Amino acid sequence: MICGGIDIGGTKIEARLFSDDLATVEMRRIATPKDSLSDFIDALAEQVRWLEQLSGEAQSLPIGMAIPGLIDAQTGRAFTSNLPASGHDIGLLLSNGIARRLPLMNDCQAFALSEANGGAGEGCRSVVGLIMGTGVGAGLTIDGRLTERFNGSALEVGHIGIPAHVLVPRDLPIWPCGCGKHGCFEQYVSGNGLAALGSHRLGRPLKAEEIVASAMSGQADHMALLSEWAHIAAELLLIIQLGHDPDCIVLGGGLSGIPDVVPMLEKPFQSLLLGEMRMPFIRTAIHGDSSGARGAAIMATRQLS
Ligand SMILES: [Zn+2]
Repeated sequence: MICGGIDIGGTKIEARLFSDDLATVEMRRIATPKDSLSDFIDALAEQVRWLEQLSGEAQSLPIGMAIPGLIDAQTGRAFTSNLPASGHDIGLLLSNGIARRLPLMNDCQAFALSEANGGAGEGCRSVVGLIMGTGVGAGLTIDGRLTERFNGSALEVGHIGIPAHVLVPRDLPIWPCGCGKHGCFEQYVSGNGLAALGSHRLGRPLKAEEIVASAMSGQADHMALLSEWAHIAAELLLIIQLGHDPDCIVLGGGLSGIPDVVPMLEKPFQSLLLGEMRMPFIRTAIHGDSSGARGAAIMATRQLS
């Protein structure tokens, strides 16, 4: 079944039309209106109409949408920090312009669903899709399907507090997080977290890309930073393993593009596992940028079937 997916981000709204084997046929990005709710809904409607016309299926084309944030399962309202529609039922507002209601999901959940179905987690029973980019979040699938989430949230592992045994021996501060708490993993293992770690250690502003590039060229202090980042990120993998025990963790987001990121994480992760625990597969995502839209499209087709 051909289908469409719309990945809604803070800077762009990306629509993709997928073939019946879930390959991208065509993609179109437009800028996300940042200040006006009605402009934002109009932009979404424009992407929906583009998909409907392109497919030739009009309103019978299954289309799903993914956003970074929480969707309240009881009220349908979405809560997200970067969109003018936060606090609103996006599907309901959009339905006024397109005469139907489209399903909406969290983008980390969409990522996990996409990678568990024809992606890097294909063939594994329990797959965690972990995004490490600007933020850190994850989704969980069992047998290729998402699990029910009481609060409509992703696995918000980026906002789990980092354990004292990680911070104290490294003499790292407890950094505040955008969520209002302090010491969240996201502040240490996201792209910004890697940059903060670098700035803290070397005493000057650094960007994550710069640290990775310098480490790859053999600069010793940056190699040490990347190694420290990997050890802290492995502590997050351990928490995921202890909580969910997946047989596969698929990495996505900008930091999953670090060369040799899998062995870099596997080594400290292996040393942290308890007793006879076996290591799950750690893999990088296959579908990359298309995962949000692809996962949302999978959800939309399943709602029809
Ligand atoms: Zn937080």
